Amino acid sequence: MPAEVPPPAASGVFSRLRDGLRKTRDGIREKLEGLFIGAPLDEATLEHLEDALLASDLGPATTAAILEPARAAFRRQGITTVESMRALLAERVAELLQVGPPPPPPPNPPHVTLFLGVNGSGKTTTIAKLAKRYRDAGEAVLLAAGDTFRAAAIEQLQIWGRRIGTDVIAHKPGADPAAVVFDACKAAAARKVERLLIDTAGRLHTRQNLMEELKKIHRIIAREVSGAPHETLLVLDATTGLNALAQAREFHQAVGVTGLVIAKLDGTAKGGAVVAIAQALQIPVRYVGVGEAPDDLQPFDPREFAFALFS
Ligand code: GDP
Repeated sequence: MPAEVPPPAASGVFSRLRDGLRKTRDGIREKLEGLFIGAPLDEATLEHLEDALLASDLGPATTAAILEPARAAFRRQGITTVESMRALLAERVAELLQVGPPPPPPPNPPHVTLFLGVNGSGKTTTIAKLAKRYRDAGEAVLLAAGDTFRAAAIEQLQIWGRRIGTDVIAHKPGADPAAVVFDACKAAAARKVERLLIDTAGRLHTRQNLMEELKKIHRIIAREVSGAPHETLLVLDATTGLNALAQAREFHQAVGVTGLVIAKLDGTAKGGAVVAIAQALQIPVRYVGVGEAPDDLQPFDPREFAFALFS
């Protein structure tokens, strides 16, 4: 069955995404191509396909949802080649990735983004990559070092700030993060910057402390800037696969996540978890990280992602 809409053109962005997804894609491709050697196709073929999808960490519920139309087409004998199977799977994955509302329209500046995520997920790198993207687009950007729990987190953000030419509002290690965020909101308004990106702690003495702190920060931002935070992005480490789901649920319950950033997609064969997590939480993916360099962050496009996964 041919795809209704042509697959994305092989632009530079698309090929970077394909490279980033190589480990996940290779895992699926090997198994998918194996299925079509030695036809006829039968129910056992679908079972093997199911195994291939599960191995990429798509999870049982999402795998079942992906295979629904494949099963129907199969019974009608509408699938006879690996290409038609790929197109069908890619279209379905693209459809399943269309979740949640679109990003909000641009507000009166500053646009405030709050970043959440456990330590090591790729939060600081993501903030730096996004800050650079906005800077390159001609916007004035301010960063807030809201993880006062770790001295290294403040320093790391300051190093990135110097590297990309962006000011960082920071207090001393151990200071109240709410005070940092308050100052950053005031500074963003006074300096008339377009973007304020706020880092937060990824770990405190207890999990409950962390969630309470994040709620407080969220309240302060909402009080200081009308309509803010405009986006609350949760950064997840793709290499943890579906294990990131429980984490994501906890952050979402505490603060209300509006978008996901999946970092380190290049380092894993478990990239299918992106689809499973977006599906389970009904939260859209906004960006994916496909490398450590500042330009290795891509706005997420469901169709591009789906076709890169099965290409
Ligand atoms: P944080 O503790 O959440 O702030 O995490 P960091 O931003 O410090 O990132 C942790 C590590 O992951 C660093 O070594 C980063 O260079 C690396 N990293 C972040 N994003 C990516 C990515 O998209 N791809 C790869 N390969 N590495 C990444």
